[in-house]
Amino acid sequence: MSRILVTGGAGFIGSHLCERLVAEGNDVICVDNFLTGSPDNIAPLLGNSKFHFIQLDITNFIYVSGPVDAILHFASPASPIDYLELPIQTLKVGSLGTHKVLGLAKEKGARILLASTSEVYGDPLVHPQTEDYWGNVNPIGPRGVYDEAKRFAEAITMAYQRSHGVETRIVRIFNTYGPRMRQEDGRVVPNFIAQALRGEDLTVYGDGGQTRSFCYVTDLVEGILRLLWSDYREPVNIGNPREMTVLDFAKLIIELTGSQSGITHKPLPVDDPKVRQPDITLARRVLNDWTPSVPVEEGLRLAIEYFQGKVR
Ligand code: UDP
Repeated sequence: MSRILVTGGAGFIGSHLCERLVAEGNDVICVDNFLTGSPDNIAPLLGNSKFHFIQLDITNFIYVSGPVDAILHFASPASPIDYLELPIQTLKVGSLGTHKVLGLAKEKGARILLASTSEVYGDPLVHPQTEDYWGNVNPIGPRGVYDEAKRFAEAITMAYQRSHGVETRIVRIFNTYGPRMRQEDGRVVPNFIAQALRGEDLTVYGDGGQTRSFCYVTDLVEGILRLLWSDYREPVNIGNPREMTVLDFAKLIIELTGSQSGITHKPLPVDDPKVRQPDITLARRVLNDWTPSVPVEEGLRLAIEYFQGKVR
């Protein structure tokens, strides 16, 4: 059993990691400033003696007493409308926040896993995306604040590994969905499900021909924990390679919710990637045959069930 710190632990993915780590008997220190995370996400864990919460902005100095075996660094705004509204916080948490967390890992002798993103590939010219592709990112576009923050975070993480011998891991997370996504975070899954449940038209941006590949959160969590304890020190894609167009995804959600909703087209956001699909050959090889196991129809049913209790 380990003592594990999770930054962004009250966020969507962070809270699923905390839940799983506590269930496995680890001591979990969850850090969050609730900028985009929510107390509701960790409410069920608060009474557990294995779970400790610290409200903290990690772009400032981080102090944690006692030993730390591992750090999962998940703090960041993570949806396009969040980083459009919080551009400076997004850049600061990816740069200053990652620096502080790496300093803590060095001090404690902890291994650290950085949550990176498929956004490092930008609007990709290689498809599906393999880890050796360097990406096609617009550094000065509104979306670039997230992409470049994560690219810097990867660079400083590798520098701490090379210069200070810190045991680092980097996961590049592709579109992930499931319970505890924020209803209003603007991402396609909560938007479409909430719209379908309300009987409103689903807002497809552009002609809906752009593609994404959606991974259910428990599959992602399994891949992340395998990577954390693996020996592999370079970035690894984790995602579900089943690719579909956004238009087909809208139709699937209408079908699964049994909604009468139609579809309305809205303008495509600036620099919206035209295609995205993870190549997970490397993950399979280095993570003991890890592969996603939840089909999108089943995962969406679970997500819909969650939102049914929330949407009004
Ligand atoms: N999208 C859409 N309607 C929405 C929200 C998003 O058509 O109401 C599209 C968006 O333009 C993108 C895809 O769905 O092509 C996925 O968007 P999301 O914000 O979930 O994340 P991204 O994959 O772009 O980071």
